[in-house]
Amino acid sequence: MNLLKCALITACLSLSLTALASPPADTPSLKTRKALLIGVDGMQYQKLQKAIQQGKAPNIARLHLYKSYTGGVLGSSTQQPTVSGPGWTTILTGSWVDRHQVNANDETLRNQAPSLFKQFKLAFPERKTASIVSWNVINENFAEDITQGYIDLPIKCSGVDPCVVDKVSHELESGQPDLLFAHFDEPDITGHRLGFTPQYQEAIHTVDAQVGQILQALQHREKAHPEEDWLVIVLPDHGRHLPEGKDHGEQTLSEKTTFIAMNKTGNAQLSAPVGNPPNQDFKGLYGFASQADISPTVLAWLGVKPDLTRYAMDGLRLIGPVGVRQLTVQQQPEGGQISLSWRTDKPSGKPVQVYRDGQLIASLTDHDHSYIDKDVQGQNGVVNYTVVLHQVPVSRLITLSSKAP
Ligand SMILES: [Zn+2]
Repeated sequence: MNLLKCALITACLSLSLTALASPPADTPSLKTRKALLIGVDGMQYQKLQKAIQQGKAPNIARLHLYKSYTGGVLGSSTQQPTVSGPGWTTILTGSWVDRHQVNANDETLRNQAPSLFKQFKLAFPERKTASIVSWNVINENFAEDITQGYIDLPIKCSGVDPCVVDKVSHELESGQPDLLFAHFDEPDITGHRLGFTPQYQEAIHTVDAQVGQILQALQHREKAHPEEDWLVIVLPDHGRHLPEGKDHGEQTLSEKTTFIAMNKTGNAQLSAPVGNPPNQDFKGLYGFASQADISPTVLAWLGVKPDLTRYAMDGLRLIGPVGVRQLTVQQQPEGGQISLSWRTDKPSGKPVQVYRDGQLIASLTDHDHSYIDKDVQGQNGVVNYTVVLHQVPVSRLITLSSKAP
């Protein structure tokens, strides 16, 4: 009896030790993780909520839906017009206009920040990417990613949304995509033409159904490839101007408010907005996640390890551990020192590192919420700061001035 008990306990102990030493058998390999990003141009958050309440957006309604913002921070170097070119470029680079330089709707502009596609392909050259867009300008702004082979399958659908459904569904059912961006344009087109009208609500309904068609193609794929684990995110590029809903581009609450709909549970950065952000403009909107958080999220999901010495994205990942939040970098007047500040959730003495242009300049803990860099006093030029918590980095760019402003 005793012997048997002992043998069982030993067996149990060795079993649990084995379980500790290796990941559970059902943990998916990062190689089977894939991502589908679906853009719904100019779909306004409030009007989507209305459509959901009326049962007219059942497909997006099945995802976890959160408020977010676009347009960067008013009055800072990240401020960008609430229009499509800058918006989609932020979504596809994790950075604001001071890095990506796409400051308008202009097909001759070229994104200057390392894109989601590029960062993914540099980490996994053999894996496949696609960008299938209704508004062709997106693939023009990312033309260098296409010529350099970072977007394996670039398709311009020239304003024909059903073409997006066909091409994306075909790719999902017959191709081997790992990272797929799809873009629909109809809500924005109807919005410009008619504003907030029953037709605008109908455009939301139509695009929701098209999103549903793509998600159905994804379901077929998942039946054939049960080992795959897909992250799905649906989001717009900007809101619309109140009250009529025809225009957008300005820095108003309604134009800056966007949404992120995701099939996975988000972390606190997505689900628990900072209630008292240092910048309280726009009724606390900056406490929410932003468009810049999308690329870091997708890259983390796909298993791309951040290189802390070169990190240059303004967003935070929305899945898994949360980094420092509300990072701000400011120069004191008259070319003075640089002060960095941030927030941490539930500090417990975990290490925090501060990098300047890829060089470690401070090792702190998450009880610290600020750092002053005196070494760049009196210098000129653009400097990139990165603050890391839980191996999660977030960066800010600042242009130093040695003179009085
Ligand atoms: Zn528009």
